[in-house]
Amino acid sequence: MINLQKLIDEIKSLNEKVALVAVSKNVTSNEVKELYSQGQRIFGENRVQELGKKNAELSDFDDIKWHMIGRLQNNKINQLVSLRPALWQSCDSFERAYEVNKRLNFKLETLLQINSANEDTKQGVTIESAGEIYLRIKEECPNIILKGIMSIGAHSDDIRDIQKSFEKSYKIFESLNAHGAKICSMGMSSDFRLAVKCGSNMIRLGSLLYI
Ligand SMILES: *Cc1c(COP(=O)(O)O)cnc(C)c1O
Repeated sequence: MINLQKLIDEIKSLNEKVALVAVSKNVTSNEVKELYSQGQRIFGENRVQELGKKNAELSDFDDIKWHMIGRLQNNKINQLVSLRPALWQSCDSFERAYEVNKRLNFKLETLLQINSANEDTKQGVTIESAGEIYLRIKEECPNIILKGIMSIGAHSDDIRDIQKSFEKSYKIFESLNAHGAKICSMGMSSDFRLAVKCGSNMIRLGSLLYI
């Protein structure tokens, strides 16, 4: 397990205002507890079922903030809603937002996921449609409270491709500032330093934390 404070010091030296989401999808509740004891409070899961399992196992740790960061199937929406995550980072279309909105009886803070490198393997709205969809969700889905955007860097060995994808996402984030966008969630274990340089203020780290 990593020394969390050392990592946080490094992240803060890049930008004072970056929030760290500890992605726990590949580890057990024991690792979550260990990071918790080092002060970590925000955790991310990419599957609703696993989020529910850890949420139950860790019910004593009631100040943990769970973020949903993975693809949400329509048949899992009810379960996600019942878990009341602190942030749904992976809203990937207007239709998904609409379906979730229908089932909500509270306000759910949400990020619009952008597929900035236009990859078939990734969820999210296109760069071209992101602004319009963001505004449509705001207008038609009153229980979805959009707080910003989330994006995964381009899947490439060329750092310039990754940087370009972050820059594109950041531009959309900037253009949505006037509409209340505050969170720009970009960067994972392999590319978080670059993401922060490109303006990310929320990074999602998994594998790096557990080596
Ligand atoms: C798994 C995952 C992460 C963390 O990835 P690492 O490379 O392990 O840091 C971040 N974001 C999303 C959406 C993920 O699915």
